[in-house]
This record gives sequence, structure tokens and C-alpha cells, in this order.
Amino acid sequence: MNRITFGAGDGFHSLLRARVHAYFESTGLDRRDSVAMVVKSAVILGGFVLTYVLLVFEVTTWPGALALSACLGLAIAAIGFNIQHDGGHGAYSRHRWINKAAAITLDLLGGSSLIWAHKHNGLHHTFTNIPGHDDDINLGLIGRLSPHQPHRWWHRWQHLYLWPLYGMLPIKWQFFDDFADLAGRGRGDHSLPRLTPADWLVFVGGKVIFFSLAFALPLQRHSFAAVIGCYVVTAMVQGIVLSVVFQLAHCVEEADFPAAAASNAGMGPWANHQLATTVDFSRSNGLLSWLLGGLNFQVEHHLFPRICHVHYPQLSAIVEQTCRDCGVPFRSHPSFLAGVVSHYRWLRRMGQDPAAAGPRALPVLLPVLGEKEIALLPSR
Ligand SMILES: [Zn+2]
Repeated sequence: MNRITFGAGDGFHSLLRARVHAYFESTGLDRRDSVAMVVKSAVILGGFVLTYVLLVFEVTTWPGALALSACLGLAIAAIGFNIQHDGGHGAYSRHRWINKAAAITLDLLGGSSLIWAHKHNGLHHTFTNIPGHDDDINLGLIGRLSPHQPHRWWHRWQHLYLWPLYGMLPIKWQFFDDFADLAGRGRGDHSLPRLTPADWLVFVGGKVIFFSLAFALPLQRHSFAAVIGCYVVTAMVQGIVLSVVFQLAHCVEEADFPAAAASNAGMGPWANHQLATTVDFSRSNGLLSWLLGGLNFQVEHHLFPRICHVHYPQLSAIVEQTCRDCGVPFRSHPSFLAGVVSHYRWLRRMGQDPAAAGPRALPVLLPVLGEKEIALLPSR
């Protein structure tokens, strides 16, 4: 696999960092350790516990159980967006143990904070949208998210079938991916590093607690069918919400999808790469920003992943102004819906067969292809 290194900075990133530093100096605000985050975490975790207790110990009807399962899926997604994500990046607190505690909420919910940190912090945040390096754009044979990934005939319908499949992702992580990644450690260019005894304890302990909460405890009070049904609804809601929010940041028409270049030539500075591959949405919606843990400000998150997300709205104005001053494109959708439509259109575009775009097909396809795809078409 090609080694990717980024070009030297051209002054944009250092100017941006200086302006953000000046913002925190002038306001006296802490980059992490925000009281607002502690309150928010308590509200979200309280909502999760309340929903789980009602679902397992109180509800007696199918409609009530399904509604609570959907609420539980939303609560889990909120924990992921707000608490686990900040903790995993070391953005929750200056204290390592607080970040660790926030990050391992993922282990209690069936994922692995260890594997997430490796793939998300190490690969996705460094090699955003580069196939073979960014695992977030790797859907295997099921989907094609980059023009540099191979096309399969069934991808022509991916803009329709991928949405429900997003809901299956938590089930795949919980039952397959984490164990496969663990089994494959030490192999390949981006495999997991060696695990310490503490890592093993968190991984195994997390799985035991998750399977106990999801299956063993509910099975003491409910039928097998009821437990499986509620688990599937919870996982589907969680998976669709998590996937769509993350896909809007990178897998949209406005984002770039660089190839894993044969040489380092052409790979620009890292900060410019983040701005080219990342898109904000709905920046003026305070409620959405609160619920999504600032993940509608993914540009700011990718540039400053170790700053707590409660500061992103203010940082966004600084980033946008600095982009304007330096002539760097800043990309944002005005609303959540605009981002969803753009993701749908990108899936449909990537589902088109590039090999079919010969001389006769080209005029038909031109309106739905961007410059990047047209450049990849076979020459006439
Ligand atoms: Zn992140």
C-alpha cells in the first residue's frame, strides 16, 4: 500500500491556529473541561438509563416496547456523538482518566473504544476520504463511496438499499468486526497495535457487560423473540442515525475523494486536505448542534479534534473567515436535509458504471457527473 505523506503547510494552518489560540486567550475559556459538557453528559446518560429501565422492567405492550427501543437507539447515538467521541479524541477533559471514562462508554454499548481510536483517530482523521487508508469509506463489496473504488453491477441501486443497511452496522460491529480486527492484528499496513493487559480488560469487560445488558438481563423477564426484536430496532435506529450524520460530513457531492497517490506528489498540506474532504451542515441550528455533539461542524472538528465540541460554533466563524482570507474553499450545507440530498445524489453518482460511460453514454451521463468523475472516464 502506498505511504501517504502530506505537503508542507503554506501558512494557512499556522494562521488559523494562531487565531483560534487568540480566541481562547481573549475569552479566557477552557478548550476542554466545560461545565456545559458535564450537564449534557448527565442528561444524556440519565435519558439512556431511564429508557433502558422502562424497556426492560416496566413496559408490557409491543407498541410501547418498540417506541422505547427506538428511543434507546437515539440515546445510544447521542452518547456516541457527545460523550464517547469527545472522550476518544481527548477533547472532553485535560485529565486522561476522564477522557478514558468517556471513551469506554462505547465498550458498554457493544463497540470497542480501542479499535475505534485506531480507525477513527489514526486513520479516518489523517487520511480522510483516501481509499485503502480511511476505513470509514470502506463498505466492502456492498457499496462504492469513492470514484477510486471498484464498481460492481449492484451498486447502481446503492442509493436505495444502503440506507436500511446503515442500520445493520452496529450489529456487524458487535458480532463480527471487533473480533475480526482483533484476530487480524499485526497483519497489514494499518492493523491494530499490540494490546496491553488493560486494553484486553476493557475489551473483554465491555463485551461481557454489553451482552449482559442487551441479552442476558432482558431474557430473564421477556421472551427470546421480544428481546431480539427490541435489540434489532434499537440497533437499526442507532446505526441509521450514526451513519447518516457521519456520511453527511464526507460522502457528499461537495467533498473531494483523492486517490491513494502512487507517489507523494500532488498531496497538499494536511489542513487543506481536511477542508477539501469535509463538509459542515446546518451550522445555525442550535438544537441540532446540541444533539449531534457538534458533528454538524465536522470541518472544525477535523481541524481541531482535541477541542471540546461545545466551542465549534464560535470556531466555525474563525475558520470560515480564515479560509476567505487565504483563498481556501470552505464547504457547508445550509441544512440537514440539503446534506441528506447531497449524500443521496453522491451514492447514485458512484453507483453509475464508469466503464459504461463510453462515447455514446457520455452525453447522457455528463449532467450527473462531476469534474472528478469525468476526468476518470476512458478517453474518447
Ligand atoms: Zn472524530
